[in-house]
Amino acid sequence: MYINGQFTSGNASEEISIVDPATEEILDAAPRGAAKDVSAAVDAARAAFVDWKRVPANERAAALHEAAAKIRAHHEELARLLTREEGKPLPENDEEMRWVEDTFDYYAELARHERGRVIPPGEPGQFNFVLKEPYGVVGCIVPWNYPLLLLAWKMAPALAAGNTVVIKPSELTPLSALRLVEAACDHLPPGVVNVVTGYGPEVGEPLVTHPHVPVIAFTGSLAVGKHIARLAAPMMKRLHLELGGKDAMVIAPDAELDMAVSGLAYAALINTGQVCTSTERVYVHESIFPRLSEELADFVGKLRLGNGLDEGVDIGPMIRDEFRIKVEEQLAEAVSQGAEILVGGQRPAQIPRGFFLTPAVVTGVDHRMRLMREETFGPVIPLMPYKDFDEAIALANDCQYGLGATLMSRDARLVKRFFEEVKAGTIWINDPLTDNFAGPFGGMKMSGLGRELGQEGLDEYYEVKHVHWDIEGGVKEYWYPY
Ligand code: NAD
Repeated sequence: MYINGQFTSGNASEEISIVDPATEEILDAAPRGAAKDVSAAVDAARAAFVDWKRVPANERAAALHEAAAKIRAHHEELARLLTREEGKPLPENDEEMRWVEDTFDYYAELARHERGRVIPPGEPGQFNFVLKEPYGVVGCIVPWNYPLLLLAWKMAPALAAGNTVVIKPSELTPLSALRLVEAACDHLPPGVVNVVTGYGPEVGEPLVTHPHVPVIAFTGSLAVGKHIARLAAPMMKRLHLELGGKDAMVIAPDAELDMAVSGLAYAALINTGQVCTSTERVYVHESIFPRLSEELADFVGKLRLGNGLDEGVDIGPMIRDEFRIKVEEQLAEAVSQGAEILVGGQRPAQIPRGFFLTPAVVTGVDHRMRLMREETFGPVIPLMPYKDFDEAIALANDCQYGLGATLMSRDARLVKRFFEEVKAGTIWINDPLTDNFAGPFGGMKMSGLGRELGQEGLDEYYEVKHVHWDIEGGVKEYWYPY
């Protein structure tokens, strides 16, 4: 763990083994932290906040740029560690690392741009302005699927706004977070950044319920997000919740087949389908359904599975066997209800170890099936035909989640209807799962509260104060007596 500028095992008497999902070998171990460690980290972060919030903007920007440069200097090492700990092929972690580095640079600049606004006075002689102030200690609770990217999207804006942070990485992937902090945060004053490793109920909950942690920035499952919301409600904590998704893709009749097939495979299978914005439901116009499903099955059947450190690997393992079993259960249930697996859904015989599952293309699905309603978080592409665009939009919206949605079409009339009528925080047209620092990312409906990235992602870490300043003073006619 990293508390008050020191690496420590804190009060932990046990360790959590960290497993390489491609080999099932134990990579290393991290301390099994507890409430006492959270308290120590929050105390350090609170003490550090007193000075950190007063650091002039240019100095703070320089500190964040320095962190970005140090992370860049460890790019290769961190990308490899991410692959060993989480399983994604190296090219995907190379991309994750670039995002992490650039996020620190982006918020270093954005946060010195403005800190509120001056507004016209409401009374004569007054000067009115809005101040954006940091909250204090921000608790950052991070999942395992993008261990550093999702950390950077919280940590960089929180620090840039003048808060200090206590980070709780996933118990499955704490090594990369610890290494990042070790490599890139030694120039920050002790206590500004802290990391407490351990399990959700043992470290995450004490952080959520700690009286001196006013903000919780959480990315993870809907179930844990709801639990956190319940715990935090009595204390009126500010919650930033990035939760699950069940993203739809609609493929219009005019879509180019090659583009639709490879774009869909990418959107559904990147990180072995373990992405909150994975395409998990696909609606294909009936006129192109037979050809598209055939070509997709052919394309997906040729993707190469293996250890993400090896060159030429497209698809890595799933993170753990329990997640693979969940996907297999959803598939088996769908088949028992009439679905047909065109390809995949198997444990590959040629790779005896690791939590691999061959990517599946499934037809004959409908919205009664869990496969079309619940988050799958695995390498599965279920295809369903539609007759007209009204039906496609209705199907896309028939979901509790609203994280992202994609349309494959060059027809501007369809595009306009899609981005106006589909309820999702991100809409992609013809280029799914891209990000842009300058624009907000987050979910509608049950996919969460708040946004990351962009100005919106910085504003999450400020609270606003409106100052009414009567510069001259004096007795007002609207005071007593009436
Ligand atoms: P998870 O909810 O199981 O765990 C997320 C984090 O919460 C972990 O650090 C975990 O230890 C912690 N946690 C667990 N129980 C807790 C508790 N009681 N109190 C406090 N913290 C607790 O999720 P996961 O399996 O790590 O990640 C996968 C999920 O994350 C998927 O549902 C996915 O959609 C979601 N996700 C969402 C986004 C997004 O931006 N919307 C991005 C990535 C992942």
